[in-house]
Amino acid sequence: MTRPSDWAGWQPATQLVRGGSVRSAFDETSEALYLTSGYVYPNAEAAEEAFAQRLDRFVYSRYGSPTVGMLEERLRLIEGAEACRVTATGMAAVNAALLCQLKAGDRVVAARCLFSSSLWILQDLLTRFGVETVFVDGTDMAQWQRALAKPAACVLLETPSNPTLEVIDLPAVAALAHKAGARVIVDNVFATPLLQKPLALGADIVVYSTTKHIDGQGRCLGGAVLADASFVREKLVPFLRHTGPAMSPFNAWVNLKGLETLELRVSRHVQNTQTVAEFLERQPGVERVLYPGLPSHPQHALAGRQMTGAGSVLAFTVRGGKPAAFRLLNHLRIIDISNNLGDAKSLICHPATTTHQRLAEAERAHLGIGGDMLRLSVGLEDVRDLIADLAQALRYLNEGAIG
Ligand SMILES: *Cc1c(COP(=O)(O)O)cnc(C)c1O
Repeated sequence: MTRPSDWAGWQPATQLVRGGSVRSAFDETSEALYLTSGYVYPNAEAAEEAFAQRLDRFVYSRYGSPTVGMLEERLRLIEGAEACRVTATGMAAVNAALLCQLKAGDRVVAARCLFSSSLWILQDLLTRFGVETVFVDGTDMAQWQRALAKPAACVLLETPSNPTLEVIDLPAVAALAHKAGARVIVDNVFATPLLQKPLALGADIVVYSTTKHIDGQGRCLGGAVLADASFVREKLVPFLRHTGPAMSPFNAWVNLKGLETLELRVSRHVQNTQTVAEFLERQPGVERVLYPGLPSHPQHALAGRQMTGAGSVLAFTVRGGKPAAFRLLNHLRIIDISNNLGDAKSLICHPATTTHQRLAEAERAHLGIGGDMLRLSVGLEDVRDLIADLAQALRYLNEGAIG
């Protein structure tokens, strides 16, 4: 039987397979799935002790449960964080990381290129409660400097960002944020826990949608927040206990199984994405490919410093605008049209009309999301089949223009 004290010394691949596992009295190989909402006490005194939090045990599954606890411990180990709590979805994690600490009158500074629901929280929800957000172009350090010249409570950013794959200088932003008194929250979904370690680069809080690479096979929603122990104990846990975005034990179990193969999958994802990015860059119908692993990417050198791989998502623009982009999408035979990402299956979407449809045209233009842009999440299929599929669909780019 391994003890928790063994876990911390293991290599990441071992932690992903075994970290956080606690066997029941039945000595099962695979982590047990505990479906229970409540727990019983041997006597009234034990219940009193548990509610006074003098006894470390489960009391109610909105607060924590055994399978969920195993997932939190495994994620904590792989991130190298002091504490982790998981949530029902990635958005519940982003929301909790912000709302558990903000109050009326606070300022947030955020990179403009954010997941569109995160933008909604900042622009539509938090403004109702008197929290103001200043948006900056994430790659422009002068804008960060100006915005953080005044005190701020939080910084929120994604790097690489969705869908334009901008890479933000984490140590530089963290230094400015800390001077302004702000905690830095990094949405690390595109990088996964394996390719970028925001806490080691100066961030205070890391959030994930485990829906993406951590499950990685398109089955379950989930989210995670990782930070230091005192933030989690004093800010995050009370918020989660009383507002209730708990992850179901079943989804935690699926995510635990996902972590067991994360390293294998992510390394194949990165290889396939690099190959597809290089292929697309050679195609005459493709104007521009955005992928941090390409030397043509504006922050290629920065990505090389703060990431150990460039991830599994790329964006590209095609000649012929939205009609050409739609023709390409409609002729793909293997790659599916879907707004999800980080899946074993390759998925492609047209951000301007789907994930970023809610934004005003001018805002999309400012973010660089035109009608000619496609976002491709490269999966685990044989890359030769993916390239053949893209090659045959690219032939249709000019179809309308000729006729
Ligand atoms: C998907 C995603 C989210 C939201 O996660 P859900 O699990 O869908 O709630 C947040 N941020 C990024 C970068 C994402 O890709």
